[in-house]
Amino acid sequence: MNNISIYGILGNPLDHSLSPILQNETYKKNSIDVEFQKFQVKEEQFEQEMLKLKTQNVKGLIITIPYKEKILPYLDELDITAKNTGVVNIVHRINGKLVGFNFDGKAWLSGLLQHFNLQNLDNKNVLIIGFGGASKSIYFELLQFNNLKIDIANRSIEKVKNSVQTYNQIFTLKEAEKRIAEYDLVIQTTPIGMWPNIDESPIYFSKVKPGAIFSDIIYNPTQTAFLKNAAHLGGQIQNGLSMLVQQNHKVIEMWFEKKVNYEDMQNLIKI
Ligand code: NAP
Repeated sequence: MNNISIYGILGNPLDHSLSPILQNETYKKNSIDVEFQKFQVKEEQFEQEMLKLKTQNVKGLIITIPYKEKILPYLDELDITAKNTGVVNIVHRINGKLVGFNFDGKAWLSGLLQHFNLQNLDNKNVLIIGFGGASKSIYFELLQFNNLKIDIANRSIEKVKNSVQTYNQIFTLKEAEKRIAEYDLVIQTTPIGMWPNIDESPIYFSKVKPGAIFSDIIYNPTQTAFLKNAAHLGGQIQNGLSMLVQQNHKVIEMWFEKKVNYEDMQNLIKI
């Protein structure tokens, strides 16, 4: 193993990823002498690339689509959220071992609490729309709150039933449209509405609960059709940019054991 420490993002495609800017600019500002690299790898080259990275001095990776599950067999250990979700989006070499983490839920929660100046989500009636990798991580993060009721709406009901035990109700996206005004917090976690399909939304609705929060984890566009629908009806809205910045912020603090300024990172991608 050579001595140059390797940090980077692994996925495909990576053209629009904002992580390289967030990482490299923050390294410069904080005298972290590392270059954050892009490993854009085709599926047929994935195994070879992972075996190569394992033998090299890889210290930290951000894992993105389509490898968040595929990477599991190449790791030595998993943290509790990665175990619970079966999805890894961060890798850190600790005492020689490659450890997989899932920061999606923590990053989403920190971003939400900060944005709306909330201490916790106790007593909230919550609807999660979609139940993929990022969503599961958010779901496990939500379980820490008191008296919080979680309903889940997904295209495939069985997939949800097979992966979680603690929930109030599971129903279809159509059903969610009818019931949306019951919720204090609605979290949109499907890729529907992401650029270039910016006019699409997983649900369309005509009434919201007064004061309700609508959080979409998509950040491109910054206001999805789902968020526009909610804002038009008086809902409070938030997009996925804070989740992305929180994730990059948390990973730098873990990898380099260094405190870095969150607002500086936020300013790097203010759109
Ligand atoms: P994923 O694991 O592929 O999950 C996709 C979810 O969306 C599943 O529940 C799936 O339903 C549903 N879905 C997909 N296409 C659908 C369609 N045409 N109609 C109805 N439902 C559909 O994806 P993920 O990794 O969780 O990512 C989801 C989104 O979050 C992506 O847009 C991603 O870019 C974004 N994201 C943002 C951040 C951030 O930092 N802001 C972090 C992670 C992810 P089924 O279960 O029925 O298949």
